[in-house]
Amino acid sequence: MRAWPPKVKKGPPAPTAFLDRDGTINKNREGSYITTPAQLKIYAKAPAAIKLISAKGYRVVVLTNQSGIGRGYMTLAASRRINLKLLRELRKAGAGVDAVYFCPHAPGENCSCRKPKPGLILEAEKDSPADLPRSFMAGDKKCDLELARRAGIKGRLVLTGQWRSSLGPAAAKKGYKDLLALARALPDMTGAEQRKIP
Ligand SMILES: [Mg+2]
Ligand SMILES: [Zn+2]
Repeated sequence: MRAWPPKVKKGPPAPTAFLDRDGTINKNREGSYITTPAQLKIYAKAPAAIKLISAKGYRVVVLTNQSGIGRGYMTLAASRRINLKLLRELRKAGAGVDAVYFCPHAPGENCSCRKPKPGLILEAEKDSPADLPRSFMAGDKKCDLELARRAGIKGRLVLTGQWRSSLGPAAAKKGYKDLLALARALPDMTGAEQRKIP
């Protein structure tokens, strides 16, 4: 489901940074869900990271599993308030997010949008297409990398959030310290040159 914006303007295929939310942009809650806006704590370097990703010519699209809704720990309205707080705080720091999509389902519901299933990317693609060879999905968990693989785009691991419990310590060598380190390593898409994500 789309949390933001209320209405989309379809543009031409654009390089797109698909970003996970919890553990990538904001802190996870250990063994728990973020169910109130007060529990949302954005990583100190995340606004600068998102600003840089935008400046390098990517649309920024957040894709997040929020099974706490399907499990009954929070309502859709609460989830909406949390996402709006995220957008507001980032905007205050000068970082714009173009769209946010979330899966509200519990695993047992067998939906088609819970990462690593590709439903959220398909929904985003329908709203406004990504230039796939120049797009990537970044996150802290295996499901984020698996989603990238299934969608045919590059996956990027950030070594924040739950990467260790999700992928094991050996994954460290394939990851970026945090979202800002990843942002710095990304190719610039604003030039005339048609670059691919390496
Ligand atoms: Mg995550
Ligand atoms: Zn779903």
